[in-house]
Amino acid sequence: KFNELGLMPELLRATADAGYTEPSPIQAATIPVALQGRDVIGCAQTGTGKTAAFCLPALQRAHATSGEQASLHTLILTPTRELAAQINDSLKSYGRHLDLWHTVIFGGVSEKPQIAEIQRGVDILVATPGRLLDLMQRGIVKLGSVKLFVLDEADRMLDMGFINDVKKITRALPAQRQTLFFSATMPDS
Ligand code: AMP
Repeated sequence: KFNELGLMPELLRATADAGYTEPSPIQAATIPVALQGRDVIGCAQTGTGKTAAFCLPALQRAHATSGEQASLHTLILTPTRELAAQINDSLKSYGRHLDLWHTVIFGGVSEKPQIAEIQRGVDILVATPGRLLDLMQRGIVKLGSVKLFVLDEADRMLDMGFINDVKKITRALPAQRQTLFFSATMPDS
């Protein structure tokens, strides 16, 4: 049951609002562990409910440390703009009863509104690697405060040639952090 996973009432309400009656297997396996602050390696394809498996703990853990001003708590890295936009929509839906800021950045569209959102302050950032690296290299996105890193679709990330970008991004993250790693198949390194 959703109410056995350790989720806060605001998130249970949001899952009920979404019409979910019980957690999917990846959600039941991931959420309690992630809520304890532990790292997770999850083997899950799109369609299994993995987005909620990482968004719900991210929202709860970001809420637990959120203060007056937004501070970048969670970075969610995903390979495509479609996935990035879907994840941001999920954060909006699951976070509807919480007071957290989140936004999404990806390439192929104007960076101006994305930069404005980041400069206003966000608790959770969803990004594709190219646009994120670009904004990091210009000092617009800073990852020094990140406590939770989600790597979504790791195998597709490799297939799409993002390995060096992902390495550069992970090197810029604080060493002391929680990591949730999801892949449909398990990459060899
Ligand atoms: P995902 O694998 O994250 O792309 O999710 C696939 C679809 O399943 C999305 O449309 C979600 O809204 C839906 N979903 C996620 N978790 C649940 C759940 N526990 N019960 C029913 N539907 C869900």
